[in-house]
Amino acid sequence: MITVNHLNKSYGTVQALFDVSFAIGSGEIVGLLGPNGAGKTTIIKTITGHLQPDEGEVTVDDLNVLTQTKAVQARIGYLPESAPLYPELTVREYLEMMASLRQIPEADVQARLIETVQATNLTQRLNQPIGQLSKGYRQRVGLAQAILHQPRLLILDEPTIGLDPTQIVEIRNLIRRLAQNSTILFSTHILSEVEALCDRVLMLFNGRIRLDSRLDELAKTNDALLTLDGHQTQPDALLKKLPGVRAVEKLPASNGHATYRVQGADDVDLCPAIYQLAAAQQWPVRELCQDVQTLESVFNQMATAV
Ligand code: ATP
Repeated sequence: MITVNHLNKSYGTVQALFDVSFAIGSGEIVGLLGPNGAGKTTIIKTITGHLQPDEGEVTVDDLNVLTQTKAVQARIGYLPESAPLYPELTVREYLEMMASLRQIPEADVQARLIETVQATNLTQRLNQPIGQLSKGYRQRVGLAQAILHQPRLLILDEPTIGLDPTQIVEIRNLIRRLAQNSTILFSTHILSEVEALCDRVLMLFNGRIRLDSRLDELAKTNDALLTLDGHQTQPDALLKKLPGVRAVEKLPASNGHATYRVQGADDVDLCPAIYQLAAAQQWPVRELCQDVQTLESVFNQMATAV
């Protein structure tokens, strides 16, 4: 649905994007995760046709964003980082204005408006001026304008920024509901947001995509963790000799236990062989398990590597 090929973008002497490429298929919910200044907004503005890259190409449904900008924008629902709302307008007036700008046929406007405010839980606020709404409700209005023309692709730039925890939960639930009928790309610097909503994560550091992974794939590792009571003589040397073992790392000791991370080659479950070795050596095994990566551990590894 979206293809991004070899994007480069500089603002004067600051290079914001370096050779960014990825593709997003129909129905995916993808989180664009990165710290402040990583380049998330620059990517989003380029996909939505609000910024020209120096090099590279973006297509949405095979339409070129640079040359077919209007057609692309008609297919996208876009929530910018700070949605341009008009505080003096009521929610109804604002959405009617957006419906007219989006050229929704007049005969359809009221039905669309009702559907949209129902989807965003704004029905009770229709006649209230936007300037009187709380931040969370204003964010809903921003989402409402993004979905009014029933786009199949939603692009949301930091949709929960500045909201309190209750409002964050509400907006996340709303995004989850919208995802039932749309493909969604959203940017965030909040790890838990990606975990709560996404199928897939793109991690961006200093303008470069450092990781593109499904969340379920990310958790998987072939490493095993073996914890022994007390310190045995040279378990690492024996563990290293097991077939399929690439490396063994002794982790910092805690409570007098010694833990070893045993790294395996692809698709090898090391636990049965480690268990047999431990039994043969009569090691006092406290725990043997498959290691699991979290989004946080991967993010921290990437952050320290840049
Ligand atoms: P944040 O999470 O803080 O919103 P971001 O990941 O969205 O950040 P961008 O806003 O895309 O990052 O910025 C990427 C880099 O480009 C940063 O170094 C930023 O300072 C720079 N930048 C962005 N917009 C401009 C601009 N208009 N002029 C100059 N530099 C800019």
